[in-house]
Amino acid sequence: MDKWKILVVEDDAPVRRLITASLSAEDYRVYTAVNGGEAIREAASRSPDIILLDLGLPDRDGVEVIEKIRSWTDTPIIVISARDEDSDKIGALDAGADDYLTKPFSVAELLARLRATQRRLSHIAAGNADAVFRNGELTIDYAAGCAYLGDQELKLTPMEYRLLCLLAQNVGKVLTHKYITQHIWGVGWESNIASLRVFMATLRKKLEKTPNETKYIQTHIGVGYRMVKVD
Ligand code: CA
Repeated sequence: MDKWKILVVEDDAPVRRLITASLSAEDYRVYTAVNGGEAIREAASRSPDIILLDLGLPDRDGVEVIEKIRSWTDTPIIVISARDEDSDKIGALDAGADDYLTKPFSVAELLARLRATQRRLSHIAAGNADAVFRNGELTIDYAAGCAYLGDQELKLTPMEYRLLCLLAQNVGKVLTHKYITQHIWGVGWESNIASLRVFMATLRKKLEKTPNETKYIQTHIGVGYRMVKVD
């Protein structure tokens, strides 16, 4: 298989060099950009498989870069934020980013995120549009409107089922509270986060075999939720 192409957008030269060296050592083909304008041009000309995007860029806002790139491609974007502010991450995720890393992060963490994104892309390429969704022991039969854990049917309420389907359709992606509430309850219900927490808690109780285990659904405090690609 061809090497995976990663576009690294980072204005901080030492960090950019570290990321580039780490990824090259792992046999990725790495392209770099040092500002937002270059990021947009490189994303268009190189057609990378995954984009790593630092949010604090000298020439323009990272969110603007995401919006621009999202106008023509769904290429996964993992944002890197030095500012540990939820608003940055959330703005980026709402603009269409797939995942985030907060500085400082380890090379191992970065590689793990890339592998998770690659698994998700392979999953999509393998036919995510199937009528049946499978992830570890979880199966969702969309046509029948049922979900199973192993051969045990999950007794879900309609709301829990809709939440589960939304997470499954975006497996591997962090979904913000706003994204989820808008998809479940519609625009204008962004403030319905308290209800979302309740439904999510009951869903997880049914889905996760071991209490407090996060095999399938991760909580990102202050941000949202993600269904993890298990296998
Ligand atoms: Ca920066």
